[in-house]
Amino acid sequence: MKTFYIETFGCQMNAHDSEKVIGTLVSDGYTQVPEPAQADLILYNTCSIRDKAEQKVFHRLQQFKKEHTGKTFGVLGCVAQQEGEKIFERAPFVNLVAGSASYSQLSQMLVQLEAGNRRVTGLSLDNDQAFETPFTRRDNPHRAYLTIIEGCDKSCAYCVVPFTRGPERSRTSESVLNEARDLARKGYLEVQLLGQNVNSYRDPSPAGWDFARLLRAMGEIDGIRRVRFTTSHPRDFVKDIVDAIDENPVLCNHVHLPVQSGSSSVLERMQRLYTRDDYLRRIEWIKKARRNIAITTDIIVGFPGETEAEFEQTLSLLEEVQYDSLFNFKYSRRPNTSALVLGDHIPEEEKTRRLTVVQEMQRAIQIRRNSELVGSVEEALVEGYNQATSQWIGRTTQNRMLNFIHPEFPRPLEGATLAGKYSNVRVTRAGPNSLAGERVN
Ligand code: SAM
Ligand code: SF4
Repeated sequence: MKTFYIETFGCQMNAHDSEKVIGTLVSDGYTQVPEPAQADLILYNTCSIRDKAEQKVFHRLQQFKKEHTGKTFGVLGCVAQQEGEKIFERAPFVNLVAGSASYSQLSQMLVQLEAGNRRVTGLSLDNDQAFETPFTRRDNPHRAYLTIIEGCDKSCAYCVVPFTRGPERSRTSESVLNEARDLARKGYLEVQLLGQNVNSYRDPSPAGWDFARLLRAMGEIDGIRRVRFTTSHPRDFVKDIVDAIDENPVLCNHVHLPVQSGSSSVLERMQRLYTRDDYLRRIEWIKKARRNIAITTDIIVGFPGETEAEFEQTLSLLEEVQYDSLFNFKYSRRPNTSALVLGDHIPEEEKTRRLTVVQEMQRAIQIRRNSELVGSVEEALVEGYNQATSQWIGRTTQNRMLNFIHPEFPRPLEGATLAGKYSNVRVTRAGPNSLAGERVN
């Protein structure tokens, strides 16, 4: 029996890549095992978006070397693509180094490893195919990730993704819809469309659909109750996307629109291709929608040369937009990126201070935003049960966590659970990161 163990770092794209890798390995006769000690083949699907993520990978590799000598090791994902064959020098016990643009050749690479080849690489970015596999092994039984576009053609000055994931490749609308229909047949209720920049989606088949057209078609699939998508680059975010959401409640009330900075001069140095005003225009479309669409974002603090006044522009943007949630990062220098040549790097302590200021301000905003929902009835897709609090864990269309009690179904019973079902819940309490409530009929 051929066994493998896989560990995944990083974003949803990586999590979903691992699901596809697992599916491919299983269809090639491998069995997944929960512990590295039980595996012949140990795989790391890595992230290099920030230096901390990358250091974690090398640290883990060293740990593994000590504990599991004699096994086959593979490094996959962004660190593999970025470091390439240098990984063999730094960690000579590694046998496979492959970036995500090469996963469609994964089966062939496994054959080479099985044939005793000790240095196998898949590092070409010169691939116009997306990684499509009928063998995807999905982790979550109710919510499925579905890639519509891979890679990125933007060149944000801080970002390593175009170097690690290669150029943009959209899947055909037919293949996306076929996969979505198949998911519905298998009982999935929710689909999350994935891509570094989903709204630059362009159907390569003659139909030539754009993202809004694809979204509308996704909203029509029998059995799929919710459709989400991430991530949207503001430059390519058009009003038609908001119109599509407004037309069909299957398309969730949530847009993640990473702004990175509230200062137009920083945005220009970041090469984000929009100004603060351009961004705010898009926010206005979303806020004017008939549906109550939650807005979330990503912020980078301490980009090279970010002055106190520029940082305050980010704070004023947070105040103006009133985001429902955000991810906040300290700028991290990445290899190959154009920001490396910019001078005037912000000291680490100052980045930490700015991060804290953003977090504190956002916490107050989230308490306010969540409190506005107290008294309302929200539909929650139940994800599980929290034994410690005796509450069901659900998620609203706005992607808010909603924990609730259910008087007639207080806990999972043998063979019976609410997980995967929808419940209407009256919100009774609000915290910064979640809501709490009680199920209503
Ligand atoms: N494609 C998405 C976009 O354009 O918004 C971003 C994808 S990236 C995986 C997720 C987030 O990581 C970015 O929005 C950015 O905030 C953050 N990020 C990327 N590179 C970074 C860097 N060098 N330092 C700090 N944060 C970074
Ligand atoms: Fe990175 Fe910019 Fe591409 Fe997003 S759009 S993945 S931040 S280069």
